[in-house]
Amino acid sequence: MAGIPDDFGSLVFDERAMKARLPGKVYHSLKQTIRRGERLDPTVADAVADAMRDWAVERGATHFTHWFQPMTNVTAEKHDSFISPAPDGGVILEFSGRELIQGEPDASSFPSGGLRATFEARGYTAWDPTSYAFLKGRTLCIPTAFCAYGGEALDQKTPLLRSMEAINKQAMRVLRLFGNEGVSHVTTSVGPEQEYFLIDKSVYEQRRDLIYTGRTLFGAKPPKGQELDDHYFGSIKPRVQAYMDELNEELWKLGIYAKTEHNEVAPAQHELAPIYTTTNLATDQNQLTMEVMQKVAAKHGLVCLLHEKPFAGVNGSGKHNNWSIATDTGVNLLSPGDTPHENAQFLLFLVAVIQAVDEYQELLRTTVATAGNDHRLGGNEAPPAVVSVFLGDGLTAILEALETDTAYSAAEKTVVKLGVHALPRFARDMTDRNRTSPFAFTGNKFEFRMVGSSQSIATVNTVLNTAVAESLRQYADELEGAEDFNAALHTLIQKAITAHKRIIFNGNGYDEAWIREAVDKRGLSELRTTPDCAPSLLKKKNVELLTAHKVFTENELRSRYEIMLENYSKTVMIEAAAMADMARREILPAVSAYSAAIADGAAKKKQLSPSLACAYETKLTERLSGLADCIADKTDALERSMLAVQDTEEAVNEAFTIRDIVLPRMAELRAVCDEAETITAKSFWPFPTYGELLFSVR
Ligand code: ADP
Ligand code: MG
Repeated sequence: MAGIPDDFGSLVFDERAMKARLPGKVYHSLKQTIRRGERLDPTVADAVADAMRDWAVERGATHFTHWFQPMTNVTAEKHDSFISPAPDGGVILEFSGRELIQGEPDASSFPSGGLRATFEARGYTAWDPTSYAFLKGRTLCIPTAFCAYGGEALDQKTPLLRSMEAINKQAMRVLRLFGNEGVSHVTTSVGPEQEYFLIDKSVYEQRRDLIYTGRTLFGAKPPKGQELDDHYFGSIKPRVQAYMDELNEELWKLGIYAKTEHNEVAPAQHELAPIYTTTNLATDQNQLTMEVMQKVAAKHGLVCLLHEKPFAGVNGSGKHNNWSIATDTGVNLLSPGDTPHENAQFLLFLVAVIQAVDEYQELLRTTVATAGNDHRLGGNEAPPAVVSVFLGDGLTAILEALETDTAYSAAEKTVVKLGVHALPRFARDMTDRNRTSPFAFTGNKFEFRMVGSSQSIATVNTVLNTAVAESLRQYADELEGAEDFNAALHTLIQKAITAHKRIIFNGNGYDEAWIREAVDKRGLSELRTTPDCAPSLLKKKNVELLTAHKVFTENELRSRYEIMLENYSKTVMIEAAAMADMARREILPAVSAYSAAIADGAAKKKQLSPSLACAYETKLTERLSGLADCIADKTDALERSMLAVQDTEEAVNEAFTIRDIVLPRMAELRAVCDEAETITAKSFWPFPTYGELLFSVR
């Protein structure tokens, strides 16, 4: 690719490094493990550990760490030094196969949702050889899965790896029915497009809401927002370009193919897309990308905001999860083919995804539910809270024709028989122009657009993989026993279309009329907020799916449920506390000081000339004083609502109380404060305004 330098991947112990440094037999054994997702032969581990250590030490490494992804959406590490005492009193650099394979961090400081009994604080990390080790500064980072001592997953990676295995197993059954001799493994791939905001560090540091919560809790609408779309179409500013250049270089060194970069709709908003790769690697790389984005920003005097909704009234940030499924022989199973045979296979996989999204719409919706994303979904800028699938008119017409055994267009005379006829070519460009759909087919992949910008993509893809695995399991069960394969396939696809076509919607997803139709006529579910979503993790149907495919145990699901609610409640309560604090200690003193200054000025003017009316000053002082009283009252009310939460029992009730009592009080307090901002002199206002934040980088 043009412009990608020689040091691409220089910080990753990747294929090239492995091949160059491992004895042939060890390399092949490791490759098998990676390809099949199998456990590594322990005798091989020592050889790999030696090679990895030498590689890392040559590049200046002194430490190693098991790098893992607890239920926090950020990664964690526990560092150990390579240095061991040598028998002669000196030091040697040691790193054994055992240290590579397993670590034992203290699990007590990570969310476990009740899984980890307090008497057993130990957890362990297990090397994930399907992802590459990499260097961060002087530390060799080894991607690992993180489990409680009893084996339950405490991280996002373990269930993801299990789901990769589940979909591989079921997809292979289906592929065998179609022949496909040479295929031995199926994996899903993801390319996550990442949106973010860049603001100047100096303005950021004056906003305690941003520092504590990642989003602004106050701020009046600026005179100019995103109305003109001039940011989207405008050229990238030199300072931003310098940031993007360095970011790309850093990501390339880590073997991440950051490919595109452009401005987004909102001022100060941008997007980065990597080239897609295997889902587990894409997940690791996205976590690393978010980390590097923030680090590089700091070097440029910038701050990278990954929150889903940093600014009210301005578009928020998401992550578009582009997902596909392919064989180890390089065939994308979501790519329409040229022969009748390829087409039939494509249609079956397509229908499998449609069925999965319809059957498990609540579960998918739930994987993107967070306090931050609640501000974005359904806000006429991001997909609504109702999940639907966009296929485009061409493909939809083909499915309709198949369902009803009719010709798919007036020009075509013949009815399509699967496995016998080729499909009409449908223009691929036609399929990807709908930006309002939560789940859109874009030619040879599906794009799930509801994911929040700060979220790990692990859980989203865990559910997606597993739900599709379940469709494929049902299909394989049915087709394996069929006498006439093509006839059975035809009937199966017809039945699946009839049963699940309600989820297909090609229109404007932002339209309120669609939401009503979806909910009232089609029976699709609308889960508006995180507390609404959380209980779906414990619904019988969903538990059955995830346990049957061995992706989660029931205990693990209960723990995810607890963690989800706990994260929600903690996040909003921190925001509420930050608001009350800023209102009392920054906003009220400013409003009060400003009104006093105005009143003082008026008094002096009157002293000078008693006939002066000072109507402006009088009115303004009255208004400011009234607003200050109101701000004080609303702050009291917010604090009372926070006390009410303390009395609530059960995590789910607490979350609902927060949503229904605390969040509305926050909105009320914000409204009066924002009004005060618009009539308080700039020199008195205690922190930078929206205008100053959004247009801080030039
Ligand atoms: P657009 O911007 O129109 O959505 P792009 O071609 O820029 O489409 O791709 C967006 C993302 O989708 C990129 O990260 C890209 O690597 C990824 N992508 C492309 N093809 C696939 C595929 N077959 N499977 C998964 N992701 C893909
Ligand atoms: Mg896209």
